[in-house]
Amino acid sequence: MQKPARILTFKCKQCGKSVQVFLQKVSACSHIQPYQGLCSCGALYRHATGNPEAVHSFLSSEDNDWVHSH
Ligand SMILES: [Zn+2]
Repeated sequence: MQKPARILTFKCKQCGKSVQVFLQKVSACSHIQPYQGLCSCGALYRHATGNPEAVHSFLSSEDNDWVHSH
């Protein structure tokens, strides 16, 4: 399996500037590679790859301390 990149860059949905998102640590779980970053405008940007259900759960979560649980 390919190692995920640690930093990705996306365009902010709010202001259109580029925002860097960082790979989040997930405890002993390979279901998902969640990325999260804060734009300079203050908007939180999330991106994730992996298990569709886990990705959906992550992206739809309002919780800043999102934790994947089985
Ligand atoms: Zn922004």
